[in-house]
Amino acid sequence: MSDEKKELKLFYSLISGEIYSVESDEVKNLDRYQIPLLKRPNSNCKKCYDRMYIGLDIHKDIYVICQKCAKKYVDFDNMPDEEIVVETPKILDEIDFDTIAKDMVNG
Ligand SMILES: [Zn+2]
Repeated sequence: MSDEKKELKLFYSLISGEIYSVESDEVKNLDRYQIPLLKRPNSNCKKCYDRMYIGLDIHKDIYVICQKCAKKYVDFDNMPDEEIVVETPKILDEIDFDTIAKDMVNG
């Protein structure tokens, strides 16, 4: 057995809105809603009061991250999926022109 101390990584959960520590070898098991942080926010942020979130997105059921603190504290180098912070563009379904044409003829 090694008495080597396990390295802890700081994470912020968009699901619970909490900042917590994870052992470095557990990080790979986290889902994409867990945002890696460089350190615990301590800037007396007026937008989020160092909670890292400014509100709850009721449509997606996730906490909305404070952009000001995200720039400062999110560990972007270790971020597996940046799309969660940045809105992803919606891909429109291909329009079925044949069906539309038939509908117009029939009725
Ligand atoms: Zn903030």
